[in-house]
Amino acid sequence: MSDYRFPYKDAAFLMNDVLGFEQMCQDAGLEDVNAELATAILEEAGRLGSEVFAPLNEVGDHKGATLGENGVQETPGFADAYRQYVDNGWASLSGDEQYGGQNMPRMLAAAVVEVWDSSNLGLSLCPLLTTGAVEAIAAHASDELKDTYLPNMVSGEWTGSMCLTEPAAGSDLAAVTSKAVPEGDHYLVSGQKIFITWGDHQMTNNIIHLVLARLPDAPAGVKGISLFLVPKFLLDENGQPGERNDAYCVGIEHKLGIHGSPTCTMSFGDKGGAIGYLVGKPHNGLMAMFTMMNEARQGVGIQSLGVSERSYQQAVAYAKERLQGTRSDGSRYPIIEFPDVRRMLMMMKSATEAMRGLIYTAAAEADRAHAVGAASRRDFPSDPATSAEAAQKHAARNALYTPIVKGWISELSQEITSYGIQVHGGMGFIEETGAAQHYRDARILTIYEGTTGIQGLDLAGRKTLGDKGAALKSLLEEIQAVAEEMADVESLAGMAASLMEAVRAGEEAMVWLLSNASQDRNAAGGASVNFMMLLGYVCGGWIMGRSALTANNLSESGDGDQAFLTAKQVTARFYFDHLLPRAGSCLATIKAGSESMMALDVEQF
Ligand SMILES: Cc1cc2nc3c(=O)[nH]c(=O)nc-3n(C[C@H](O)[C@H](O)[C@H](O)COP(=O)(O)OP(=O)(O)OC[C@H]3O[C@@H](n4cnc5c(N)ncnc54)[C@H](O)[C@@H]3O)c2cc1C
Repeated sequence: MSDYRFPYKDAAFLMNDVLGFEQMCQDAGLEDVNAELATAILEEAGRLGSEVFAPLNEVGDHKGATLGENGVQETPGFADAYRQYVDNGWASLSGDEQYGGQNMPRMLAAAVVEVWDSSNLGLSLCPLLTTGAVEAIAAHASDELKDTYLPNMVSGEWTGSMCLTEPAAGSDLAAVTSKAVPEGDHYLVSGQKIFITWGDHQMTNNIIHLVLARLPDAPAGVKGISLFLVPKFLLDENGQPGERNDAYCVGIEHKLGIHGSPTCTMSFGDKGGAIGYLVGKPHNGLMAMFTMMNEARQGVGIQSLGVSERSYQQAVAYAKERLQGTRSDGSRYPIIEFPDVRRMLMMMKSATEAMRGLIYTAAAEADRAHAVGAASRRDFPSDPATSAEAAQKHAARNALYTPIVKGWISELSQEITSYGIQVHGGMGFIEETGAAQHYRDARILTIYEGTTGIQGLDLAGRKTLGDKGAALKSLLEEIQAVAEEMADVESLAGMAASLMEAVRAGEEAMVWLLSNASQDRNAAGGASVNFMMLLGYVCGGWIMGRSALTANNLSESGDGDQAFLTAKQVTARFYFDHLLPRAGSCLATIKAGSESMMALDVEQF
């Protein structure tokens, strides 16, 4: 089992040198936040991750949560690790100051979250769900609910859960049947939810469930779903957890991976009704839940990065140690010297770095949406339309990134963690090296928070057909501008040409989608995942191209760690040689259409 160490150099390079972290903080009015502070924060997080979370990763795999009389008992050691996480202020890092948060930029928060995800994916799922629940409550709940619940959720004293899925309602939430009946100032919620991550545990003295259910007069379908806040313990007159609410875990799943994360079957209202409070407007719950899901979808992108990085680090350590080559003088050499092992390691390294860059880029857009909105509200207090429009532009870009961050990155994490095993040979298949755990843990990432198919549909449908390609077109233009900048640098001219070709593939795919979707009802559905993967590879090329440009400039000026800067340029070249060409193959598949996909009758399968 190898040690885990957060890749500080790559994170700092991307944040500061490529993406202009300090400028962004200044624009956001966060003058106190700078690169030095960010480094100190990352080092502290890295320490807790390496020393406390990481050693418990294997424990969680072997000793998953159990269900007993008092509910779910989490993996031994998790409660203490979580307590350290809360006591050291990690839960509140990017939280709103109004509720006790530290208001740190999301780009920095994303970097910190990679630490938790790499070091212990099962445990880190708990704060992921809490963060999503906080976002949904902050955006949609009444002031009273916000004031009552957010301070303890932002601090991490209480955790959150997301209760959407039911046996008959998975991807299709229109089929939700849980009910909520009004009673005085609250509702009585009843129904069964399945697959609820961290739906119960003993690490905190309360858990705040966000539950989708239907009011008695609800219209059918997604337009009749409302969102309710259902605490595990009702609050007493002092706002402290008191009486037990009627919300219980009645089973936990046995599963392929993330054994440290309890996946609960939750029963609401078996004893008459769980007391819940409406979040947002009646029948508008799905919109409120989307706030939570979008946050969580980018969070799954970070999980995918985290587990990929851990798998990569372990593969590198093994490849340096494992002797399988014999020189003519009889001395033996390690497998890292074989080109095919290099191919796998370079794929893992270059994809992981591209993923990290895209995640920071998306987080920066969320920071800008927040900052621009706040700044123009400040500068134009009497003109709410201007501030809304300014923030909207960045929010739309962030929304465009979301399915790519979730879908493309989680799909790549499957390949990376599989290579993590392959590099280990037979020892990868054997559990004791730990390589297999990353592969098993990663397998859920393309499924929860909307499967890859759903991400593809979101990108092709709502995010591209929805605005006739406007947001995507502006992104592709930005990528083209970077390619043109690269073309002016002799050593990057070849890469520039490849990036331009990939941008053209993206444009062609978009035009194909826009012109075929209305004529062929299967066109968008059949093309959507390839469309998402294509744009993922193009975005990765954009990030790696910008990284190569920056590394080249810094190298020429003699600034920075020269070995790192050279490695960055080589890694970018590998990405362009081995991963970016996949964009062309995605385009060919998209243009082939859905005919052969749909031609067989169901009986012919
Ligand atoms: C470990 C784990 C943790 C989870 N945590 C939570 C949680 O905390 N809260 C929660 O509410 N849920 C949770 N889930 C549920 C998870 O979000 C769902 O499993 C997921 O949304 C898929 O739903 P499903 O399993 O019913 O699959 P289905 O919807 O039955 O999908 C099966 C297949 O059909 C495809 N498919 C379905 N509909 C479409 C479509 N419209 N277009 C194209 N393809 C489609 C899917 O892509 C998939 O390949 C969790 C699940 C697991 C396994």
